[in-house]
Amino acid sequence: NVCIMWFRQDLRLLDNPAFSFAAEQGNVLPVFIFDNTAPKNAKLGGASQWWLHNSLKSLNKSLDNHLLVLSGDPKKLIPQLCEEYSASSVVWNRCYEEWQRERDASIKSELNKNDIPARSFNGSLLWEPMQVLKKDETPYKVFTPYYRKGCLQKDPPRFPVSKPENLTLCEAKGAGETGIEQLKLTPSIPWYKDMEKMWEPGEEGAASRLSRFIEEAAQSYQNDRNLPAVKGTSLLSPHLHFGEISPNQAWFAILGAFDNAFDHKDLDVYLSELGWREFSYYLLYHFDNINEVNFNAKFNHFPWRSSRKDLEAWQKGQTGIPIVDAGMRELYKTGYMHNRVRMIVGSFLVKNLLIDWREGERWFWDCLLDADMASNSAGWQWVAGSGADASPYFRVFNPLLQGEKFDKEGEYVKTYCPELAKLPSKLIHQPWAAEKNVLKACGIELGKDYPKPIVDLKASRQRALDAFSEMKERN
Ligand code: FAD
Repeated sequence: NVCIMWFRQDLRLLDNPAFSFAAEQGNVLPVFIFDNTAPKNAKLGGASQWWLHNSLKSLNKSLDNHLLVLSGDPKKLIPQLCEEYSASSVVWNRCYEEWQRERDASIKSELNKNDIPARSFNGSLLWEPMQVLKKDETPYKVFTPYYRKGCLQKDPPRFPVSKPENLTLCEAKGAGETGIEQLKLTPSIPWYKDMEKMWEPGEEGAASRLSRFIEEAAQSYQNDRNLPAVKGTSLLSPHLHFGEISPNQAWFAILGAFDNAFDHKDLDVYLSELGWREFSYYLLYHFDNINEVNFNAKFNHFPWRSSRKDLEAWQKGQTGIPIVDAGMRELYKTGYMHNRVRMIVGSFLVKNLLIDWREGERWFWDCLLDADMASNSAGWQWVAGSGADASPYFRVFNPLLQGEKFDKEGEYVKTYCPELAKLPSKLIHQPWAAEKNVLKACGIELGKDYPKPIVDLKASRQRALDAFSEMKERN
């Protein structure tokens, strides 16, 4: 009795409902398919490809080299595998992007026609989007009622399932590392060297991040999560995206490690951040193309500027605004950017530079290791003010004040913009305000060693507010 376990965004063995079910059926054939039919905007970015390569290696190791890795169209490959291995069932954990849902539904009905049952499970969300609706059966659009009323007052999330005890794996032709290497996911230029130092893709890496967070940072999360120079967050996002750990494992680990977690502000805030991830998936599921279409249709008439030069300065961390540049360089170097800084660089692009949020979304998509259709789109629409429960457009983050508040000593800026390291803390966020002799003493010539600001913060803020008024008039 062969059961095909189709791994997708659930690259783990622990708390994997589909995998546990497969193990009960008999012989398990574990398969991963690199789906080359993904639409253009869902094709993996460079950073994600690097992660996936390493994550598959780790999963294959946990499966004693039995993971069969293929590339192609799952609609063709799954039925072919069923025939080749005389499989009697196929299982997977659900994915939520529209194209994935359509693909899966079509595979399911095709298999059913051939009397092969296909079963899917919830392996990556605490509450699935179809479970949570308002009293009038329509979806929530605002986070707090969605989370507090819709989710928390519902049935609690599923408790993590343990690893299957009796596991027999199929000996498949071509299984193991070769299939992974054949995907050619690692680039020829090794830009990922810094990422290797910081991250450990795979289930073990995810588990150790979570325990470190619980031991060292969870109890001061509310304050420290805002400080980019402090390791105050869990750094679980890429692990969660690829499903090397489930949100259920994180959720119940917190509830298990501390008494009355919901009464503890730091822990409550952390759990609600997992709630924001759920909310992003909820929006992705209930509304169309949130990675492209403005949630708030008024923004369809927004007078965006088009400036390749400014966009490139932003992408390269060369805007002359230190906290923005530090964030963009952190992203490029490590594949990650701190959440507070994501909001700052996002606001700067969309408001001070007046560049369409979709440009930012695409750049993040390519560079982030945690690039996630749901959270990235929801994050960008939040920043732009075009989202469901979004920051109002007229609230423009002042990067100078944000830097002074959340990176007081400039440690974060110094890490990623070392050319500014000698500046005194009170000037590090605004080198343009330093006297010439101070700059000289610090070995900085503005415009040469570090750029002059590409926009005036005050004037560009006003320009953004004017553009917003123009949009309102057009509607
Ligand atoms: P922690 O603070 O430890 O939070 C725990 C987990 O909760 C995270 O791992 C993540 O899964 C979830 N979470 C936390 N904050 C958010 C949030 N605001 N929205 C959704 N989920 C959240 N997150 C992604 O996972 N992928 C993305 O592509 C992504 N793009 C973003 C783009 C923008 C413009 C913004 C403002 C935010 C984006 N986020 C994205 C959300 C957030 O920045 C990251 O999830 C967070 O920084 C990851 O770090 P962490 O794991 O240490 O988070």
